Amino acid sequence: MTKTSSCPRCGSKKMKIHNPQAPIWECSKCGYSGSVVVEDGNLEKQIKSLKKMDKLSKKLIRGR
Ligand SMILES: [Zn+2]
Repeated sequence: MTKTSSCPRCGSKKMKIHNPQAPIWECSKCGYSGSVVVEDGNLEKQIKSLKKMDKLSKKLIRGR
């Protein structure tokens, strides 16, 4: 079985991984980078939940 990873922001499948030891994906289309990608399947559902996580993690990073 092959899995395709898609960008959670724009849905592009042109995702690159920079460091295999700390998998950070980078989208060559919109420039998104992060450890979360969307795998084929319920794309829309996953994008929605990933967006929520993205917001949450940004809040956590910014903190104050
Ligand atoms: Zn993208």
